[in-house]
Amino acid sequence: MEPVNTFTEHDRLIQGSGTTAADWRHWLDAHLPPAVDIDALSAAHGTLWVVAPHPDDEVLLAGGLLALLAQRGRLAHVVAVTDGEASHPRSTRWPVDALAAARREETARALAQLAPGTPLQRLGVPDGGVAKHERDLAIRLASLFGPRDVVLTTWRLDGHPDHEATGRACASACRLRGARLYEVPVWAWHWAPAGDPRLPWTRAVSVPLGAQALESKRLALLQYTSQTEPDPSTGASPVLPGTAIARLLHPYEILFSP
Ligand SMILES: [Zn+2]
Repeated sequence: MEPVNTFTEHDRLIQGSGTTAADWRHWLDAHLPPAVDIDALSAAHGTLWVVAPHPDDEVLLAGGLLALLAQRGRLAHVVAVTDGEASHPRSTRWPVDALAAARREETARALAQLAPGTPLQRLGVPDGGVAKHERDLAIRLASLFGPRDVVLTTWRLDGHPDHEATGRACASACRLRGARLYEVPVWAWHWAPAGDPRLPWTRAVSVPLGAQALESKRLALLQYTSQTEPDPSTGASPVLPGTAIARLLHPYEILFSP
């Protein structure tokens, strides 16, 4: 079902601890979308792109898939839209430049864990300001994508403004170039109740991960320590608490097909 027109941004607030991983796992195990053929996703001589609004989204949205492809000797290309420099406002532990450098390093370590040699392009769009640069971002993405390519990015209704703007920019670029777009919920697992009918289940597909790819994804997520640890200088809780990570460590990844 497509989201209904009463589905506003106020319904997609990321606050509190969100729906539990156990609730989602229970519902998804009973309603698992059909498995997608990952060889078909990355075949046809095209490139598979993973477009991440922030450093860590490449693993949150497709870490298992990256590991599965690497097992087959294939590599996706990752695009880092921002360097994630806005995740710790007013922090003395994480001044903006140090944070951006640390987050770039975290992505490098995570990709080395999952799929060594993965090509990575950084676009340097301001973190927190993707919507303002959406048109320019779409043009830059369109210059990368080809007509036989497959693009994975965050869902246009994921709830985080940068995730939604990146989803829209990828959709425009894919339309322009004829590439195939899969959108992936990341923060939707937080704000949506398990089985929420506003999510587009009729076009959902699953990527079964297997134990090795799932473990590789888990180890890759441990690299993002700027996000998984509290900030003593501001008293802020982790940006990515254990509860959020658990929601993204099911033995499958869920994508919304075009
Ligand atoms: Zn993000």
